[in-house]
Amino acid sequence: MKREDRAFKDILAGREPEKKVVVTVGDLTPEGKQEEEERKERISKIMQHARRPWWCPTCGGTMKSKLDDKMWNLHGKCFSCVVEEETKLRIEGNYEKYEHGKIHANKVAFLKDMEQLLVANLEALKNPEFVTELGEVERWSGVDLETVESDMREHLEQVRELLEDNENGGVNKPNSQGQGEEP
Ligand SMILES: [Zn+2]
Repeated sequence: MKREDRAFKDILAGREPEKKVVVTVGDLTPEGKQEEEERKERISKIMQHARRPWWCPTCGGTMKSKLDDKMWNLHGKCFSCVVEEETKLRIEGNYEKYEHGKIHANKVAFLKDMEQLLVANLEALKNPEFVTELGEVERWSGVDLETVESDMREHLEQVRELLEDNENGGVNKPNSQGQGEEP
């Protein structure tokens, strides 16, 4: 099985995937660079489909905090990427436009995709088989499906809450999320 597939499976199962091997692009041969680019593209595609990737597809940094979770749900990147981007927009004086325009539409579209994906994943859990890129079917083993399912349901609930907030004209109600999250 390809490393990325394994990572995807681990992420889906809520496990930490095996450590990423960092390759400096400058050290690579042209073929190596090409391969690295393709690998990155594959990973970023896979990441888009994971309930929450381990690495930010934009900067490649790890995403493990609650803030990263939240930013991933809203923007599809890590907290520090969002901060960096928003700081830049504030400096340029374009923040207001950004906040109320394109990003809002993107946010809603993204959340809708996320919702659909989670619903599909929950459906797929009823028949816990994993189809690789090569079309090979592997049954999941050693995976606590109940935990995966309850994680997914919890995540789906969060996505739906965010979607509700964002469909009300993109005005974030104060404390609509974040506070009072204690189990
Ligand atoms: Zn990032």
